[in-house]
Amino acid sequence: MSRRRTDPPRPCGKKKLGELKAQGVVDAARRSSREHRQEQRVYYCRGCDAWHTTSKPYLTVAQYRAQQRSPP
Ligand SMILES: [Zn+2]
Repeated sequence: MSRRRTDPPRPCGKKKLGELKAQGVVDAARRSSREHRQEQRVYYCRGCDAWHTTSKPYLTVAQYRAQQRSPP
């Protein structure tokens, strides 16, 4: 047997949220002091089958690859 084409997704350990809950967290973060709440957006995690929030701005694939080639 050859290696599986795709590894099964794994939980990443972040807090699991429903989509609406995650969006609510981001909305609250936008309304409150940015010193305390940094969440900027939500994303779906296949590993957890749930939504997470993140403070990192969205990166396109091209931007991501550029970062990998030349880390700051
Ligand atoms: Zn996850």
